[in-house]
Amino acid sequence: MIHTIPAFDRLGEENAFAVLARATALSEQGRDIVNLGIGQPDFRTPGHIVEAAIKALRDGRHGYTPATGLQATREAVVRRTLATTGVEVSPDNVMILPGGKPTMFAAILMFGEPGADILYPDPGFPIYRSMIEFTGARPVPVPIREEHGFAFSAEETLALITPATRLLILNSPANPTGGVTPRTEIEKLVKGLEKHPHVAILSDEIYDVMTYDGETHASLLQFPEIRDRLIVLNGWSKTWAMTGWRMGWSIWPNGEKGAHLYDKVRKLAVNCWSCVNAPSQYAGVAAIDGPQDEVEAMMRAFDRRRKLVVEGLNELPGISCITPKGAFYAFPNISGTGWPAKKLASALLEEAGVALIGGPDFGVLGEGYMRLSYANSEENILRALERIGNFLAANAKKEDTA
Ligand code: PLP
Repeated sequence: MIHTIPAFDRLGEENAFAVLARATALSEQGRDIVNLGIGQPDFRTPGHIVEAAIKALRDGRHGYTPATGLQATREAVVRRTLATTGVEVSPDNVMILPGGKPTMFAAILMFGEPGADILYPDPGFPIYRSMIEFTGARPVPVPIREEHGFAFSAEETLALITPATRLLILNSPANPTGGVTPRTEIEKLVKGLEKHPHVAILSDEIYDVMTYDGETHASLLQFPEIRDRLIVLNGWSKTWAMTGWRMGWSIWPNGEKGAHLYDKVRKLAVNCWSCVNAPSQYAGVAAIDGPQDEVEAMMRAFDRRRKLVVEGLNELPGISCITPKGAFYAFPNISGTGWPAKKLASALLEEAGVALIGGPDFGVLGEGYMRLSYANSEENILRALERIGNFLAANAKKEDTA
């Protein structure tokens, strides 16, 4: 076998893609599968956004763009950031990348190496840990607890910081839990971080406007005291139903301490993807500046489904589910069923035709939970809940008679 560096053997996966592949294979065999595994909106990208990309292509705008992104796209991000956070950033700190993930990739590569610690949420998006391990840094999980509403705890996070800590990864609203960390907790965290000026922060805010019940997301950008070491990850994938367009942005530190990071991510882009495809960047401007009525309608649909999912799950034996405040995921506690989470997820897919993800795919603290994405129709959600209920009832009977 041809030798590669060991780092590649440490790369992990996103099991949601494996579940999607298995669900698709079962569907192709003629099985009726309800997919609550997938982390992408089931809505179409709004028409005016699609038209902007087509127009760009027709106008011949399909060449290379600057590695950091088109000025027009970066300025659109500046306007959007001002509208959602009240903070005015410079377009010179904005980077356009092919999706949200490349910001994670760049930031973790910049700080990870053997001997360094990187803190990340557990349960959390699986690529954080995978990339930390790739760099040889030590992944240090920050527990995200149900009893804390799946918000991160400032106290617990700060207690894990050591002189070896290089980067702290935060995510709110969160995948896979739907947790939204309240502003008061973030204020506490920022205050505590003053004592640890050597720690950079990567705040993954890709679900920033996807909140419910009047809950608002507090961006880390609103804290000028950490702006010189803060990287904010965001993008078009979720808000405008644009996952396949591969469009993300990030806001990089300003000031003497952190401004040099921007040039580093620019160089990484030059060495890897050169630039994001031009028509998508024009579409990105249209998404930000155009009408938001379809986005609002999508959020109203998610809200209705969220209530349906939570209500339905809480009626099932052995399952309890707190109401998620953001994103489009529910993270029910299934420990009362007596099933290990991954086994239950797999049995539900193979035997009941419902695709969802076992909590341990998001970290060790995910045991006892499952992630359900409610990016599916109300009708399908009801069918899935019925199937899960029937499966658990049949299974309990089996145990009774055993
Ligand atoms: N961050 C979080 C928390 C996510 O859930 C996702 C996608 O599921 C991403 C980043 C990646 O987004 P993208 O598809 O734009 O790379």
